[in-house]
Amino acid sequence: MTLSLDTRQRAMLSAMGVRVWQPVSAVEPLVQPDPMLRAETPAPPVVRSVVRVAQATASPTVTSSPSAPAPAAVVLKALPEGLAEMDWAALQNAANLCQACSLCETRQHSVFSNASPLKPPPRTDWLIITDPPSVEEERKGDVFVNTEGELFDAMLLALGMARQAAPDQLTATVVPVLKCRVPAQRNPHAEELQQCRAYLERQVALLQPQVIVAMGRWAVQSVLTATSADLASQPLGKLRGQVHRFANTPVVVTYHPQSLLRTPLDKAKAWADLCLAHSLTRRP
Ligand code: SF4
Repeated sequence: MTLSLDTRQRAMLSAMGVRVWQPVSAVEPLVQPDPMLRAETPAPPVVRSVVRVAQATASPTVTSSPSAPAPAAVVLKALPEGLAEMDWAALQNAANLCQACSLCETRQHSVFSNASPLKPPPRTDWLIITDPPSVEEERKGDVFVNTEGELFDAMLLALGMARQAAPDQLTATVVPVLKCRVPAQRNPHAEELQQCRAYLERQVALLQPQVIVAMGRWAVQSVLTATSADLASQPLGKLRGQVHRFANTPVVVTYHPQSLLRTPLDKAKAWADLCLAHSLTRRP
């Protein structure tokens, strides 16, 4: 799908600090071009059709510093039976009661998605997979909350999309890669990401999105592990700007909105990634 931004959308992006490149013919003139500004205009996003095919059995690889202490042994228990056949409500209920990894001991409650608690959205064009829930996300039982949520929603809106979309609008559903919060003093373990992938795979199967957008280090690592552990261990900056695959669904990876708030210069890259995902999406 070709994206053509109108004046209002470009003004919104400018207010967010997102500098946008578009072909000259596609842009409505706002003001006379300023030659001093052109030097700061970022290069156009390079859209490369690199497609990597998933191998669903690979194990996640968590990168760590060579000097970091060896992680404690991770205790895993059996996942709830019948997960791969559950509907949306049963899957969410199973996540609430799940004790398949040690994160169940420290969570207040699981965070399943931004969608209605008991029924899936009628249609999902994008499935956004994001990092494990923060304290605030756990407290609110939602994903992308507060300022990071405002930034994410504004970027979606500039693309003509929304989380709660009208019938003729492209829609995005957000789910965390782990359904339970990770204690503040550590990163998620590879075994935890692997264990919780059963929920993620069922969510993908139920929602059947046109495109998956993985936002954040842990989300990208878990999703691309399906392609190769070696690929998943690469820095996010090397993986963005390409089309990967999760099962048969195209995947675009980019930065987490919280990271964009800390590093505003990455907003233009994230915008280019979302435009790449948009180019893969058909209007309903
Ligand atoms: S993180 Fe996933 S696998 Fe672990 S207890 Fe929570 S729902 Fe279960």
